[in-house]
Amino acid sequence: MAASQINLTKLTTQFQRSPRSSLSSQLGAIAAQGLEMVYQSGTQSFHALRDINLEIASGNIQLLMGPSGSGKTTLLSILAGILTPTSGNVFLLGEEITRMSRQQLSQFRLRNIGFIFQGFNLFPALTAAENIEVILKLKGRRAGAAHKEAMLLLEQVGLENKAKSLPQDLSGGQKQRVAIARALAGNPQLIMADEPTAALDSQSGHAVIALLRNLAKEGGSTVLMVTHDSRIIDVADRVAYLEDGVLKR
Ligand code: ADP
Ligand code: MG
Repeated sequence: MAASQINLTKLTTQFQRSPRSSLSSQLGAIAAQGLEMVYQSGTQSFHALRDINLEIASGNIQLLMGPSGSGKTTLLSILAGILTPTSGNVFLLGEEITRMSRQQLSQFRLRNIGFIFQGFNLFPALTAAENIEVILKLKGRRAGAAHKEAMLLLEQVGLENKAKSLPQDLSGGQKQRVAIARALAGNPQLIMADEPTAALDSQSGHAVIALLRNLAKEGGSTVLMVTHDSRIIDVADRVAYLEDGVLKR
């Protein structure tokens, strides 16, 4: 499947949005203050993040780079509300997620965050289309609408002919594209991705980069990406570097 079949025009139209509230634009779409993360396992503790302060403007593409083990996945997981920091505050779209209850946080995440995991995290027993439909149903779509929307998303990542395939029958790059389509389901304002192009050949890598760029620049989504991919630097607004848990710019 040629990566160029990703339909950016359709995507751009679908992702057009009204302007944000003034509160969220004041704070930035994503903001962190004084984040510390200490992992505890038994008597061992490991200080993975130290005094992280970060602000990402709405509609920006922010990259997070750094050597393996520097804390990138830890920071991304905290900013996405998947992991609770030892201390510090996280604000998303003007709301402090570090003050939310578990239930408020999971509702907030479902509504506002599309997350692309490092290992795809597709449901192995569900087809490509069903992997996307299940998220849309959680967001309140009826079965028929969820199916239509899932097919449109698959078309946008050039995989409409793999809708009925199980993850085990897809290549690494195809699984990655399903994971991306799933993260975009329901049009989230925040897209967070852990090395989204790592498993892609160069052509689909370029297409995915173009897709994420369009989401931010035309659709107004804010994109935060952990990556080692130097091609992505060209489309990024800002790049932050982590080194031993400390943020350097
Ligand atoms: P990166 O994504 O940059 O490779 P990670 O955020 O995965 O880095 O990990 C940062 C550091 O924290 C590493 O030294 C790692 O071993 C440690 N770490 C990550 N997760 C845990 C955990 N659950 N328990 C203990 N240490 C962890
Ligand atoms: Mg990582």
